[in-house]
Amino acid sequence: DVPPLYIITPTYRRAEQLPELTRLAHTLMLVPNLYWLVIEDAVEKSPLVAKLLEKTGLRYQHLIAPMPDEYKSKKSGPKPRGVSNRNKGIEWVRANAVDGVIYLADDDNTYDLELFHEIRFTKRVSMFPVGLITKLGVSSPVVKNGVFSGFYDGWVAGRKFPVDMAGFAVSVKFLLERPNATMPYKPGYEEDGFLRSLKPFEPKEIELLASNCSRILVWHTQTKRNDPSSMLDLKAYVEKSHS
Ligand code: UDP
Ligand code: MN
Repeated sequence: DVPPLYIITPTYRRAEQLPELTRLAHTLMLVPNLYWLVIEDAVEKSPLVAKLLEKTGLRYQHLIAPMPDEYKSKKSGPKPRGVSNRNKGIEWVRANAVDGVIYLADDDNTYDLELFHEIRFTKRVSMFPVGLITKLGVSSPVVKNGVFSGFYDGWVAGRKFPVDMAGFAVSVKFLLERPNATMPYKPGYEEDGFLRSLKPFEPKEIELLASNCSRILVWHTQTKRNDPSSMLDLKAYVEKSHS
């Protein structure tokens, strides 16, 4: 049997939440030996998300991990989106998994099924290109003659690992050997902080997937913001049409 995949998905309540999770669910339903860890940035579980998860037939955990108030109440600047949720998922893996691979899969990205074949045998940390990101259109390790030779990314910003959340996977055994590894509440530096915390690990040790990082198997798609009132309108519609 193939090693298990632990897919950690942060999510939060908004008009786009159910469509995003539906799209992702229907990808994951095609992947063998997978655990889906869905962690809501919320103080209580959404019954709609619970129903969606039940319907998939997948093995899943439905957890909550609200963003700490100090960040949530911030008036300006970027927030550490999805950090509390991802750390909660990582904690669950620490407590429950012994082997396999973790992958941090945001609810709004687009995933090719081949990606899950590629990451399944990650020994330590694997990386691969992410499409549709920054003005450059792609973020990826650069590979020359089959060897890692740097990073291609639209926002390097002093990062040791200038990569997107969707651009790497980590072996569970490797994670378990690093009990202090965690994702920092540091907007823009979440990936870099987490990968640095997996020390000792150097960029030259990256396992290069997707045909030496020449193929795009995941895209950083972003859904257009819909009017938040569309959630309320849906409720009004249900009440009207079913009463
Ligand atoms: N997210 C969250 N709480 C928030 C905002 C975002 O849990 O307040 C989740 C979101 O569902 C997604 C991830 O964190 O899975 C990254 O957020 P987003 O896609 O908005 O960030 P971007 O991809 O635009 O950087
Ligand atoms: Mn996103």
